[in-house]
Amino acid sequence: MPYCSQCGTQLRDEDVFCGRCGARQPVSAAAPAYDGFNPRTASILCYIPFVGWIAAIIVLASARFRQDAGVRFHAFQGIYLFVVWLLVDMIMGPVMGFTRVRGWGTVWVPALSSFAFVGVLKAVVVVAWIVMLIKASRGEQYRLPILGELAERSVAEQK
Ligand SMILES: [Zn+2]
Repeated sequence: MPYCSQCGTQLRDEDVFCGRCGARQPVSAAAPAYDGFNPRTASILCYIPFVGWIAAIIVLASARFRQDAGVRFHAFQGIYLFVVWLLVDMIMGPVMGFTRVRGWGTVWVPALSSFAFVGVLKAVVVVAWIVMLIKASRGEQYRLPILGELAERSVAEQK
């Protein structure tokens, strides 16, 4: 419950002016700040494909969500999803390529199927991002296989 900055009269949260002396109240006392960046919005931002990890790092670094295990869970899960994307993109691609180039009879992998394999993995990650965007917008704490467990463990460790 805020009090008038001039005369000390008790005010309601939504009062902009004091009912007794008429003094205009500082914004922080009259209305909660950061209304646009609420926990649900923050959770959704963590799953924007390719760039959500930036929002996730901001969430994890911000004092505002330090005690919010729900938002921090989404932030960790968003980061882990991006890590999976990087692994698929940076490691799987070249590895599959080498097996193809060497062309040892037993490990021969036709180019088309290796590209298809990486493509399917990438599609899975993108679908996971979209699913989590929808789940987070509904306020659901949906746990992805493996990554959800990792995220929960990360939240617990930081307490
Ligand atoms: Zn007053």
